[in-house]
Amino acid sequence: MNSYIDKFTNSTKNTIYSKLPKKSQEFIKKKSFELKFTFSEIKQIVDIARDLDMWNEKTIIDIFSEHKQKKVVIARLKKSYNDLKTKPNSYENFELKNIAKEQKYNFKTQAKDGFGLGLCPVASEKTRCCNLLTLDAVESCGFDCSYCSIQSFYNQNTITFDSNFTDKLKNLNLDKNKTYHIGTGQASDSLMWGNREGVLDALFLFAKENPNVILEFKTKSDNISYFMKNDIPKNILCTWSLNTPTIIKNEEHLAASLDKRISAARDVADRGAKVGFHFHPIVEYENYLNEYENVYDRLLNEFNANEVVLISFGTLTFIKPVIKQLRDREFRSKITQMPFEDANGKSSYPNSTKVKMFKHAYENFKPWAKDVFFYLCMEEHEMWAKTFGYQYTTNNDFENAMLSAYTKKLNMKFLV
Ligand code: SF4
Repeated sequence: MNSYIDKFTNSTKNTIYSKLPKKSQEFIKKKSFELKFTFSEIKQIVDIARDLDMWNEKTIIDIFSEHKQKKVVIARLKKSYNDLKTKPNSYENFELKNIAKEQKYNFKTQAKDGFGLGLCPVASEKTRCCNLLTLDAVESCGFDCSYCSIQSFYNQNTITFDSNFTDKLKNLNLDKNKTYHIGTGQASDSLMWGNREGVLDALFLFAKENPNVILEFKTKSDNISYFMKNDIPKNILCTWSLNTPTIIKNEEHLAASLDKRISAARDVADRGAKVGFHFHPIVEYENYLNEYENVYDRLLNEFNANEVVLISFGTLTFIKPVIKQLRDREFRSKITQMPFEDANGKSSYPNSTKVKMFKHAYENFKPWAKDVFFYLCMEEHEMWAKTFGYQYTTNNDFENAMLSAYTKKLNMKFLV
């Protein structure tokens, strides 16, 4: 008896057992003593209990079936859990919990080592990738999107600016005979901080002095005041990450609403700058295809193809640290309530689901198919042929096709 108490205490120590609702804790303890679960069984049961709570679904007590054989109990539990993962999610009765109502964080400005310009952090040869260069103008983001992997890289509550950023940018020595595509929206949101610490002054000057660089600002904000007051160099591209109102409300916390994002893009386009849109992640839930179609149609109605340089599609892809971090947070999200399949060492939807959502998206944009550059972000090579009917042989081919299309739309020279 005493030895199992020790075993149970040790088994729960490195799990999120203590973060479970009291009733679930007591229930798991009672069942563990009855059926003498092993450490790994206890870990699984605790993770299942945490997921059910996070998804705002039934509790571990509701789905636990009584049987005197441990093997049967575990098998039935896993089946009920997987059934909840494979059924289409519904946000109808979903209640959020512990979601920050306002942005709270500390700002830090310090001299940083290095410069934070490098290949896109999630690029890989296993996926068809555009070789985007990312520039970390600011570290950490003030929005709180539940699916975001940035949260596992940085301290969420501290936003860091590099006191030497402007000088480093000025001294950046790029090949003048080559076209570059540099994005600032990976380590943080490109526009939510405005021109704090002179970041936008430095980036606009950089664009003016490097006409061979396509500088992409990617955002979920509507903070465009700097773009409304300053001349926008033609090699600057503003892109918005869009999603359905359902996903924005339930999974993209503190970010601007869909209306605000689209009207900000409209205002920037009216200033003569080119825009673009990222649908990443497209999330599967009840009636999702219709809700995404409404967003696609809004763009077709509110913009013309000449104003739009790109549209990208992508979906949920999780690395283990992010799943662990989500379980550690005592909040609600349905973002991991999905049938996971391996996607090059990460977890994502089954390919059949991806083909369905990407084809649906691309077919909705048929009127723009010839005039706007469409691409898949972070997807396997074959997914391209299944979605677009063609695929690139190498990442360089993809990059060249993208840069050729972008420079044409931005009225720039394409330098290879
Ligand atoms: S396709 Fe996406 S993941 Fe790959 S390099 Fe480009 S932006 Fe990064």
